[in-house]
Amino acid sequence: MPEAPISTNVQMVQDLHIHTTYSASDTSVVPEMTIALVAAVGHAKVVGISDHFENLVDGVFDAYAWEVRNAGLKLGVEVDGHAWAAEAADYPVDYYLYHCRDRRADYRGLEALLATRRPVIIAHPNAFGTDWRQLPPACHMEINNRYVWRSDWWAYYAPIRDRFPFVLGSDAHQPNWLGQSVARHVATRLGIEERVLF
Ligand SMILES: [Zn+2]
Ligand SMILES: [Zn+2]
Repeated sequence: MPEAPISTNVQMVQDLHIHTTYSASDTSVVPEMTIALVAAVGHAKVVGISDHFENLVDGVFDAYAWEVRNAGLKLGVEVDGHAWAAEAADYPVDYYLYHCRDRRADYRGLEALLATRRPVIIAHPNAFGTDWRQLPPACHMEINNRYVWRSDWWAYYAPIRDRFPFVLGSDAHQPNWLGQSVARHVATRLGIEERVLF
């Protein structure tokens, strides 16, 4: 494929929740969803790739990290709860997305990621029923374009608008998901101003 120029149609300040073909176990990802394509589309000023951490262990991470950095993108991983948190804390990423289900082990696993001092974004917390009372204020809360409408987002997010910094994410698995229209609608309604991390 010839190298495409970066799009001038930049609409968003950041998008840190994007999956690519490195999320090999995720059947929603299509073969076209490559790091190179995401970089070429340039739908946000700050773009980070956050493939599933469990798909990156066993020798895959180095190639993933090289490709993300070589494309000029931020390097993230999406960590599926406490089972992976301690291991993920040892990897040299820029930030974490974290699946924090409402269970004690996941709140404790979060501590390992926060101890790295890197930004930790609680991924689609409304979809997991994450109890925000268990989260340190150092966490970033995500409003996620894929999942936010699947719950009563007003009831979940309105009480914590001033408690955490917020990050909006597309959770794109396919090129045509590279947007944040729903997440931005919700944030606007809530009066939340996004925290730009990089
Ligand atoms: Zn997720
Ligand atoms: Zn995701």
